[in-house]
Amino acid sequence: MKKLRIAGIVNDSIVDGPGLRYTIFTQGCPHHCEGCHNPQTHPFKGGKKVRQKKICKEIQKNPLLYGVTFSGGDPMSQAKELLPIAKFVKEQGLELACYTGYVYEQLVGGSVPYAKELLSYIDILIDGKFVLSQKSLNLKFKGSANQRTIDVQASLKKGEVVLSNNEKWI
Ligand code: SF4
Repeated sequence: MKKLRIAGIVNDSIVDGPGLRYTIFTQGCPHHCEGCHNPQTHPFKGGKKVRQKKICKEIQKNPLLYGVTFSGGDPMSQAKELLPIAKFVKEQGLELACYTGYVYEQLVGGSVPYAKELLSYIDILIDGKFVLSQKSLNLKFKGSANQRTIDVQASLKKGEVVLSNNEKWI
């Protein structure tokens, strides 16, 4: 398994979803949204490589975590490398959230390698590019109004997008 390329990790985040979270910022993003807050995460050759096992151990060490968030960069660009971490997170009974510049339909449509497999472990997906003209500070855990907070497991079951009704997220 190739190592995961990351821009950074925040092991006690309270801004990337509800509760205390372990947030992984993956390195590399193909979307280049105007007004992106993390342009340093765009190059696919930047950041540093880490072993998935090391990340899993760190997650396990913190009994106070409510969830784990994949952010970026675009985590879906390294969906294959994130698979073992996603599996581990769900085995630990933690909530798994993921941000992506792709939309859900692209991910289930098969155009992004291993994205479908990764979705099978994800609880909440915030999808879509950051659109500067739709930026709002009133959105919970989202940057712009075009982005959706998706209940992934319900969506996979139904075969179409089901927006989350989880009060912690919306
Ligand atoms: S998808 Fe996210 S990381 Fe990528 S350019 Fe857009 S806002 Fe920035």
